[in-house]
Amino acid sequence: MNKFFRIFILTLICIISFSFSINKEKITIYVAMDNPDFKNKNYYCSKDDSSVINIHDGPYIKWKINSSKVIVSYFDHNPKNDKTKKVTRKYQISEEDTSFSFKGFAYDSLNYFIDKHYYPETAKYNNVEKIMVIGDIHGEYDYLLKLLRNTKVIDEKNNWIWGHGHIVFCGDIFDRGNNVTESLWLINQLEKKAKKKGGRVHFLLGNHEIMALNDDARYLSPKYCFICNRFELNYSNLYNKKSVMGRWLRSKNTVIKINDILFTHAGISPKIAENKLSIDSINKTVRNYLDEPKKSLRKPITNLVIGNEGPLWYRGYIMNLYNYKKISNQEIDEILNFYNASHIIFGHTDLPKIQPLFNSKLIDIAIPFKFRNVKEQVLLIEKNKYYRLFLSGERENINN
Ligand code: CA
Repeated sequence: MNKFFRIFILTLICIISFSFSINKEKITIYVAMDNPDFKNKNYYCSKDDSSVINIHDGPYIKWKINSSKVIVSYFDHNPKNDKTKKVTRKYQISEEDTSFSFKGFAYDSLNYFIDKHYYPETAKYNNVEKIMVIGDIHGEYDYLLKLLRNTKVIDEKNNWIWGHGHIVFCGDIFDRGNNVTESLWLINQLEKKAKKKGGRVHFLLGNHEIMALNDDARYLSPKYCFICNRFELNYSNLYNKKSVMGRWLRSKNTVIKINDILFTHAGISPKIAENKLSIDSINKTVRNYLDEPKKSLRKPITNLVIGNEGPLWYRGYIMNLYNYKKISNQEIDEILNFYNASHIIFGHTDLPKIQPLFNSKLIDIAIPFKFRNVKEQVLLIEKNKYYRLFLSGERENINN
């Protein structure tokens, strides 16, 4: 297809919002620019600075693999004198050390326990009795913290108190909201704490993680634009392979299976199943891509997995898109058969309520935080029963 025509079509998609009915309930979905190929290097940054008030952002931790130095930085902006500072501390450690802890500074009083290396986790788990599935956070740290406390996953000191439970974050922690850094560190630290108590935290990659690591800053909040502008920074450099958070993110999975349920950000499309891509090969493909984007894109499989029919961008469970049709019942059965699964749980395409679709074979859990007339909720699966779990900690049975 002609390149300019393609850009025109994609721009149209960007401004169209879809309305349709599920179970007689009117649902409006806003589709952002669904273009994984978008490249614009001149993004820094057209957003208005006037919305920026106080900024205390961090920590950003640089720890090179062969280094005996850990460098921790925060960004600090004072609107009264319009001064923006980068506050940095350097810690001398031994080159052999593989873990490190420090107390936050520059308005941050939290403690951090970090590792030098992060390894890919297994993508398959059995006999898990309770699973909480959390949709696209998009930097809404306050909601996340409130949710985890009210549902007794963590206590007031952010300690894990949820026993052997598993939490699945279905991707898209990055972009839109103003507290991406805080959200990432909360999940990162919780992962470590949960494991110690026999629980698990799974952080799945979404399209916005891929964008953030790959120089695509279309959805950065004005706060991060402001920081990048002031320091002439490229946002993705804050998450490069020299950074602890960058290495942690690059170790993550895109699809996992717990009991007989698949979890992924956007969904598994018929094309992915037709190509017989196993869970492990999907995860490996995305990790290779994040490790060496240019080189890995020479392979057709990478283009498929990273593209808009891949698990990071697909919307066919909910709607037709310009280049594919909404999924059919038969196609869903074929996908479930191939992966030997009974359900697929996904986020990415917003709905106002957690909604079992196609006879409960699919469940969309992307319920936006901070949206008028939408009650914030996540999914709880306990002993094979499904519940909507609200911000208050209350739960509601889902009839499936
Ligand atoms: Ca998404």
